[in-house]
Amino acid sequence: MCNKKSIINNANEAASTVLFQAMIAANQGTFAVGGCIIENSSGRIIKAMHNNALKPLSTTNKIFTFDPTAHGERQLVSWYYANKTSLSLPEPKELTVVTTLDPCAMCAGTLLTAGFNVAVVAIDDLAGINYNKSFLFKDLPSNLQNLAKSKFGYYACGYKNQDLSIYVREYIGGTDVAFSNSIVSAENLMGCSSIFQASVNAVRNNSSDSGLKPSLLSNPANLPDDSLIKTLFRKVYPEAFKLSIPNNRLPNTDLYNLLVKVKNSVPDAKNAVAFLDPFGNVVLCFADTFGVSPVQTAFMNVTQSYAKIRYELMNDKEIYEKTAKTLTHPKYGTFVFLNAPNPADPATVMMLGAYGSTLEGPVPQIFPANLQYYNHPEEGTIEELSSLIMNFPPFYTQLAQLSIMQTATSPNK
Ligand SMILES: [Zn+2]
Repeated sequence: MCNKKSIINNANEAASTVLFQAMIAANQGTFAVGGCIIENSSGRIIKAMHNNALKPLSTTNKIFTFDPTAHGERQLVSWYYANKTSLSLPEPKELTVVTTLDPCAMCAGTLLTAGFNVAVVAIDDLAGINYNKSFLFKDLPSNLQNLAKSKFGYYACGYKNQDLSIYVREYIGGTDVAFSNSIVSAENLMGCSSIFQASVNAVRNNSSDSGLKPSLLSNPANLPDDSLIKTLFRKVYPEAFKLSIPNNRLPNTDLYNLLVKVKNSVPDAKNAVAFLDPFGNVVLCFADTFGVSPVQTAFMNVTQSYAKIRYELMNDKEIYEKTAKTLTHPKYGTFVFLNAPNPADPATVMMLGAYGSTLEGPVPQIFPANLQYYNHPEEGTIEELSSLIMNFPPFYTQLAQLSIMQTATSPNK
């Protein structure tokens, strides 16, 4: 194992490093995917991380959603921006994010927004951006396909006449990817692939986070103002549970005005997003925070905060039973955008992928359209946005069944 090394010399050592991270993720009970950032010029490992989407709860000992966007690669990009200045890190184009598994739409969009080189070991035929192994990136908008071809690399694997042909692959991808001229062993490819497949089955059997159906919930707005549930949400969004829309599926002009106000409160924000619970309570409403990083969009802020606060409450033995009865899975809520996102922007690929990860599975059929917007995109068209969604990998189109629709009360109808 090369997992303790701080300098690595070839693709196989890189694969061992990230496979070790995937093993830690498997032990935690989450999706077994690992990644690291390598400096191209030196082979130095700058940071290694693993998937943290799910974590065990101390209250129930069950696995529960911690942050649906906490995939290894997405976390590495956020870590990079949080530490870039203090650690004097090189620019993303001088670095390679190595990952055990082909990035999903969210992670691919995140990595393209930031401009990292990306090295991949195993293919993911459900959610991976190269799910069909064409290496053409037809699931990305046309303006990003050539960028992805130059930034992403799929390591050569295995040896002809020695390994099973399914574990033998030539390198395909960009020329600036670290160690693009060396070979990952068939064992490491097999390890990265099979540990992930096993973890998907384990998650399916052990995760407890399906959330109560809206008809079984009680309204959190009726809790006293000093309740821990309201307090934790108001720490990040002081107006939490103060505005209530009569029907959470029909966002109205009060919400539109709130979204405009929230967007305008952050100078360089292009968008704001609100999350409504099944009672129509505005639980969270945030703008883009590009001052933090170019990948910290309004939607990411909202979905990450909701999941993390819900996890914290579910992990508290004083309050978790009340939490389970008042806060449900976000698939039963409604995410409302002020502006539909620009279909040609890699951050839109990230955001739509993050929405799919937030759903974790099919949208409840009681109301499938829980991603809504008021204004058409400021750049690009809504037709281009719909076509982007329709071309996404099978997880998003067949399992989660992503869609986006305009609110019933939009000013630009
Ligand atoms: Zn991902």
